[in-house]
Amino acid sequence: MIGPSTQWMLDEDILRCPACVSEPERDPEKKDPGRLDVVKNKWLVCRDCGRKYPVEDDIPQMLIEIGDRYRYVSVEQLE
Ligand SMILES: [Zn+2]
Repeated sequence: MIGPSTQWMLDEDILRCPACVSEPERDPEKKDPGRLDVVKNKWLVCRDCGRKYPVEDDIPQMLIEIGDRYRYVSVEQLE
């Protein structure tokens, strides 16, 4: 779940999808790629690629391999 630490990072707007800000996926045309939306107070969903990163005990799990696992899981199916 998202707690005070993750909320602070969201408020400061410093979290981005690691896949979308790094090569080879980074789109040089796109300003500020990899912005994330909060879903169900637990998931950070990338607006650009659809990878989904869970927040476990207030620690966002921002590894590309983890985001890959949930990339094609629909938001409704996230628990
Ligand atoms: Zn992304």
